[in-house]
Amino acid sequence: KITRADFMQALANDIKPAFGVSAEDFELYIRNGILLWSQTIRDVLEEGHLRINQTIKSEMTPLVTILLEGKPNSGKTALAAKIAMESGFPFLKFCSPQTMIGYTETAKCESIKKIFNDAYKSELSCVVVDDIESLLDYAPIGPRFSNFVLQTLKLLFRKLPPKGRKLLLIATTSEKDIIKEMGLMQSFSKVIHVPNVSRGVEILQVIEQLDCFSKKELDYLSKELRNKSLSIGVKSLLDCIELSKQATDVYRTAKFLSALEEIGGLHDGDY
Ligand code: ATP
Ligand code: MG
Repeated sequence: KITRADFMQALANDIKPAFGVSAEDFELYIRNGILLWSQTIRDVLEEGHLRINQTIKSEMTPLVTILLEGKPNSGKTALAAKIAMESGFPFLKFCSPQTMIGYTETAKCESIKKIFNDAYKSELSCVVVDDIESLLDYAPIGPRFSNFVLQTLKLLFRKLPPKGRKLLLIATTSEKDIIKEMGLMQSFSKVIHVPNVSRGVEILQVIEQLDCFSKKELDYLSKELRNKSLSIGVKSLLDCIELSKQATDVYRTAKFLSALEEIGGLHDGDY
């Protein structure tokens, strides 16, 4: 038998608002936090704050659009979610290809349009359009993509919200050149580069903040990594750390270094 208590329980736990903020969705994308491994990450967040303020304060720009661009695994989605959450806007929505798996082109366009139309109903909104190239079904062989979705995004990225409404749009991509070729680049007021971790000292920043190695291991890694270079996305770096945790104590640092070599091409010097 369903009682009032069940109903209240469902209301509190199971029922999500149709529009408005669902903060837990956003937190999912920042599962491992945001590590400040270099000044550039602070700069990305700072640029985000600037654009949030611009959306709130400027009379002339009711639509502010930013694109976070970087290699796969560099942390674009997490940074976009972080900036969106920090806006504190009453309407936040995540538009992700993962929630549209198996959709037809038409269904995809309808569901993207709905997100924007819902956003226009709030005075201040922030919409994240994650992984644009996947949303477009982009495939490098061919190359192929959905022109229907492309035209929809193009229109939505330029459409001004109704009078008195403001929208901050944050998009992400790993395919900056493709986005440019498709003519989507002009839609953005600011393009922000999300860098890969590229220096040994930056790795040390990450592992110190995570507290994942003992003091002795840290000392050793510090010596090994100090003058090294590589290129690895923060998401892959976290994977390497997880992997090394599975090794027995004596092999842990060796496992970590070999993973960095394999995935990030860790090598001596030159920076
Ligand atoms: P993909 O190319 O697959 O879309 P991505 O670039 O979007 O990957 P994310 O999915 O954002 O990468 O993964 C980044 C992960 O690293 C998240 O779990 C996040 O919590 C964590 N992380 C830690 N520090 C940072 C940071 N400084 N910036 C971004 N993400 C970070
Ligand atoms: Mg992503």
